[in-house]
Formats: sequence, C-alpha cells, structure tokens
Amino acid sequence: MNIIEAQQLTKRFGQLTVFENINVNVKKGEVVAIIGPSGSGKSTFLRCLNNLEEIDEGSVYVENQKLDYKNKKALKEITTKMGMVFQNFNLFPHMTALENVMAAPITVKKEPKGEVMERAKGLLKKVGLEDKMDSYPAKLSGGQKQRVAIARALAMKPDIMLFDEPTSALDPELVGEVLNVIKDLANEGMTMLVVTHEMGFAKEVADRVIFMDGGKIVEEDIPENIFSNPKEQRTKMFLEKIL
Ligand code: ADP
Ligand code: MG
Repeated sequence: MNIIEAQQLTKRFGQLTVFENINVNVKKGEVVAIIGPSGSGKSTFLRCLNNLEEIDEGSVYVENQKLDYKNKKALKEITTKMGMVFQNFNLFPHMTALENVMAAPITVKKEPKGEVMERAKGLLKKVGLEDKMDSYPAKLSGGQKQRVAIARALAMKPDIMLFDEPTSALDPELVGEVLNVIKDLANEGMTMLVVTHEMGFAKEVADRVIFMDGGKIVEEDIPENIFSNPKEQRTKMFLEKIL
C-alpha cells in the first residue's frame, strides 16, 4: 500500500519552475533518501507534501486522502500525520526541551496535559535526553537540539516523518548521534523521507534513493545500484563530486 502518492506535481515560484510533473510513491514503512545538488527542489518537494508550500499542479494523496486546499479539515488531518524535522531545528527558544515536545499535542490536538507530559518524557528518553528535559535550547548542543526536534515531531504520533537535511547544520562529531536516532526509527518501521548529504547513512538505511537534479527525478533505485552502479551520467557526476 502506498502511504504517499504524489502525482504529476508541479511547483513554481513566480517565473521559476522548481519542479514539473514529478511522481513519487512511498510505501508504508519505506525509508526513502532524497539526494541531489543544492537548489534541485528537494526541500520544496518535502514542503509541498505537508502543505508548507502549495502545489501548482498535480495531486498528493496521504493514506488515500487527497491534499485539498479547500478542505481545511482534511488538510489538518493530513499535515498532522506528518512530522517534519528541519536543518535548523526550529525549536521554540523560550520553552524547555520538555515544553517544546509537549506544545503541539496540547495546542493542536487539545490532548490532556498529563498524558502528553508522560509521552514527551518517554520520547526525550528515547532520543537520549532524559537529563536535558528542563534545559532551554540555548543550553543544548546542535545534536541535542536536533534530537529534541525529532522528539517534538514524534509527539504528534505521525505516520510519516519528513527530514530535511537533519544533520547539515551540525558539527561533524554530532552527526552520528542524530543519525542513530533516525536509524532507530527506521528499524521500528516508521515511514520516512530523508533529504540528506550523508551518503553512508542513505546506503545503510534507505530502501530507495531518489536523485533529484534541476527539478527532475533523474534516477531512483535501491541504494546499492545508485551508489555502485548509477545508470545516469548526472547521478555519476554528482556522486563523484561529493564522495
Ligand atoms: P534544495 O532543497 O534541493 O536545495 P529548494 O527546494 O530549497 O532546493 O529550492 C529549489 C529552488 O526554488 C531554488 O532555486 C530556490 O532558490 C527556489 N526557492 C525555494 N524556496 C523559494 C521561495 N520561497 N521563493 C522563491 N524561490 C524559492
Ligand atoms: Mg534544501
């Protein structure tokens, strides 16, 4: 079963066509890595899936429900099925780690505070931050901030996680701790789309790799084929540059 079906998506910003007629289907439990040069439309694609950007043409179905801009109720249902983690953490600076994780279930889903707190504590423990629950973001390392951001996304009980270069803003020694949390989620069966420049991670964790360039899906395949035997010249050139 496809949990996401994105069909013939076109996105423009004014005169600029970011991508045109792209198709991406994702199966439940699948981990898809999206790679490609800067400016190729990777972030915009993820942002269109969870309505941070509006699509110009084409359609997105999430668990067979159509992303319909006129249907506010369906939009909210769809977007709350997806958790998103950004390059720059985007934590609320005036809230502690625990408060950051608790915020959305309380304000968006109106869940009871006690229940949310128990779940939030469990999630912070899961990402290895039991001892940082009462810390403000300014007191946390980049890797810790990103782990709070992941816990915060998970607090909404998403069916799908979208990661947009989750380790790109981190010092090299902090990348591993964040990738390990994402790996654990993959092993638990979470459906994930991960935009990443960490090719080792993509190779190890992804079921499928999508290579985007210039707003096109140039090639998609299992990681072994993409990394060891790419079919397209553009894929080869990109990988030669970064590996
Ligand atoms: P990637 O994530 O692959 O680096 P992006 O999706 O961020 O690429 O950007 C794709 C293209 O769209 C780039 O040319 C970028 O400058 C442009 N773009 C992204 N967001 C906006 C925006 N909000 N307004 C105008 N242009 C944008
Ligand atoms: Mg990007």
